[in-house]
Amino acid sequence: MTDIYAGPVFEMALTQFHRIADRLELPDGQRSRLLYPKKAMTISCPIHLDSGEVAVFQGYRVQHHLTLGPTKGGTRFAPNVDIGEVAALAVWMSWKCALAGLPYGGAKGGITVDPRQLSLRELEALSRRYMQEMIPFVGPHIDVMAPDMGTNEQVMAWFMDTYSMHQGRTVSEIVTGKPVSAGGITGRREATGLGTAHLIERAMQSINLDPGKCTAVIQGFGNVGSVTALELVRRGVKVIGVSDHTACYVDKRGLDIEALDRYATVNGHLSDFSSELLSDPKELLTMECDVLVPAAMERVIDAHTARRLKCRIIAEAANGPTTPDADDVLDAERPEILVIPDILCNSGGVIVSYFEWVQGLQQVFWNRDTVVAKLCELLDDAFSKVISKASSEKISYRFAAITIGVQRIMDAKQSRGLFP
Ligand code: GLU
Repeated sequence: MTDIYAGPVFEMALTQFHRIADRLELPDGQRSRLLYPKKAMTISCPIHLDSGEVAVFQGYRVQHHLTLGPTKGGTRFAPNVDIGEVAALAVWMSWKCALAGLPYGGAKGGITVDPRQLSLRELEALSRRYMQEMIPFVGPHIDVMAPDMGTNEQVMAWFMDTYSMHQGRTVSEIVTGKPVSAGGITGRREATGLGTAHLIERAMQSINLDPGKCTAVIQGFGNVGSVTALELVRRGVKVIGVSDHTACYVDKRGLDIEALDRYATVNGHLSDFSSELLSDPKELLTMECDVLVPAAMERVIDAHTARRLKCRIIAEAANGPTTPDADDVLDAERPEILVIPDILCNSGGVIVSYFEWVQGLQQVFWNRDTVVAKLCELLDDAFSKVISKASSEKISYRFAAITIGVQRIMDAKQSRGLFP
């Protein structure tokens, strides 16, 4: 239909989708409606750098479908962001929201920038300019942003403030993942990692693994990876390997995750934490462990890596870490590995975002226990649906999860007609 999204990440979403569509025997017209984004925006964001010069950054927002409610999804600030990656991430958000039963279509946005190269003032200027340019396209009932790679609570506060100033009143429900002091919800920051750890525990139960006897390896030590690590340790799991973009540490006796977390919070990265524990990041994913958690970026497990994995569970905390070729290997040659697919594994983030949005609309606030209990309830429900579909139809967990998501969107489109 169109190749404006062409690139390796959109190619991945495309392959995943056509595998499901083939199985459901969908005609071409249906496929295009279900796959291609409804709207895509490209903007340029000029800001004054601290040097006094003007720099222009490219920004994007893709809204995948409008059938179930507003669109929902994060905003990514990263050097490799392009429209194809953002579109693929929007498609995955749609499947994720549909699987969790949330009343949203998927969206994603981003700016091609390395936020670490910007001063705090420049980051604020860029964040505000991005939201300013997006005002005609977003709204609490149109498209609701959230954090993703390279953005955080502070960026969400700037987004919310910029939108609110334009409206002349505080509109906290325009973004989720805000600081609690600015209308955020308790537990949102930890939600993705907490949800990942909760599902790992469920997966362990399902194959009779005792958390107290298990080891884990985590790639990525940002918000998601670090909270997953802390939560796994709380459940008795020994975390023996972690990495971020600056360093990789391994200790078979178990790493001091709390110390690593404190270090990363102060320094913003893991490098120089220890010289004795340093290890080769290329070997991390194929280390012997019970649980492997890719929590960094897309396409890190390819077919070659899939053949060399030595884990029992892959918990996909990142979006799209496993390529379709690797899926083929896992399905055909590695039936002993249980994959918790990304759209299930990391859905804790958007689920608590949904609670935050509802709170903002109703101006009623819940405590942390309520948030965590409701989060686990929705995750358990989605996990059970995936397991039962996978076992009754003899398909992989990923196949089952995506099929449930696609089918829900398809049913809504069929009952509403062609418009949304
Ligand atoms: N960026 C997160 C994700 O990929 C969260 C999205 C949200 O909370 O809307 O799921």
